Amino acid sequence: MDITLYNTLTKQKELFKPIQQDNVRMYVCGPTVYDYAHIGNARPVIVFDTLYRLLMHVYGADHVTYARNITDVDDKINARAAKEGVEIRELTERTNAQFQKDITALNCLSPTVQPRATEHIGQMQDLISLLIEKGFAYAAEGHVLFHVPAMAKYGKLSNRSVDEMQAGARVEVAPYKKDPMDFVLWKPSSEDEPGWPSPWNEEGEKGRPGWHIECSAMAKTHLGEVFDIHGGGVDLVFPHHENEIAQSCCAHDTDKMANYWMHNGFLQVEGETMSKSVGNFITINEVLKDWPGQVARLAMLMTHYRQPINWTVKTLTEAQKNLNTWYNIVGELEEGEGALEINEGVLGALCDDLNTPKAIAQLHQLKDQPEALKASAGLMGLLEDSLSEWRNQAQDQPQLEEAVIEAAVQARLQARDNKDWAEADRIRDELLEQGIILKDGPEGTSWQVKT
Ligand SMILES: [Zn+2]
Repeated sequence: MDITLYNTLTKQKELFKPIQQDNVRMYVCGPTVYDYAHIGNARPVIVFDTLYRLLMHVYGADHVTYARNITDVDDKINARAAKEGVEIRELTERTNAQFQKDITALNCLSPTVQPRATEHIGQMQDLISLLIEKGFAYAAEGHVLFHVPAMAKYGKLSNRSVDEMQAGARVEVAPYKKDPMDFVLWKPSSEDEPGWPSPWNEEGEKGRPGWHIECSAMAKTHLGEVFDIHGGGVDLVFPHHENEIAQSCCAHDTDKMANYWMHNGFLQVEGETMSKSVGNFITINEVLKDWPGQVARLAMLMTHYRQPINWTVKTLTEAQKNLNTWYNIVGELEEGEGALEINEGVLGALCDDLNTPKAIAQLHQLKDQPEALKASAGLMGLLEDSLSEWRNQAQDQPQLEEAVIEAAVQARLQARDNKDWAEADRIRDELLEQGIILKDGPEGTSWQVKT
């Protein structure tokens, strides 16, 4: 079956042709491990896990290499470790362990390889040396910078003018920069920051890599100079992916770093941008305390990956209802039973630029075909448990988490402020349906669980 994918590079859907049929290679930017991952971080992990499963189905499980990195050297990590008064390694190990646990609960398979930045410093330094040798980078005051004007094709992925790029990158003007757009490949470290000796730091002093060079070096090490698919969230298009392309193409004299660039859309919570200051910041871990991982996974896949997603209690509730229905149909079928029964409609939808909403609609058509339902949902990482295992998971969970209820209460207040009474009533009724009673009083709105 042919797969078509939307390519950010060409702004169109294209027939997917791997460089090698027996080794399809995909790189996805992974987490910077300093804090709990939030549900926005879960989106690319679930989306590209679904693509990974599809590629393995189409090309064979042994013919796909999926690399997702772990950024374990970064200024955010240094700042957090200093704040908590813990060793950097302790913080990154703990956070990475939590991340792996969270995404395993979302039924995400382990990628073929999860390279760590700190284990690829040598490869990063080799890449930087190559860029200096070829005239694309220069050393200055303990830094090495990529000289953007040296690359004629810079900006092709994001398609922006230099002015827009400067605004988007919030470029730092520094005396050692030849051009304001030049970005850091290597920078000096103080004594309490992690650092490695390098040709660009004085004897006895150390430095550390910039974020962008980490991905270029790890992708080259595990997938080669040019590979098939590079993925990540749409927020990474510029500057991160643009800079990865600049580094990799200039170092290796190639026209492309990857043939297909794929980006998932933004995530909002109950119609609002997620932020710590608004108080609607939700971690994967919090979601998993209140919902089975499969519910969160299905809720994520109910929206097409390129569309913005609105993360709501309503969607989670709908996902849980769907899973209840489907599990009751498949009953106690064992995993792997009926593996040859994958429905053509489901497969066709997934091959069409990973059209998961269409694939899910197709699953609803399979109520008289339990084997096909289980096998087809399995391709999306769903219905992998038995009915009794599912019942255990679903029973353990309270239905709503506080942060989500609070977000709904806020959304209702907003609707009332806008005199959108219909929307305000809809939110109140929706909560009531889920056993949450709202009380409006002089002190504001409070809520309680219906007993
Ligand atoms: Zn990256």
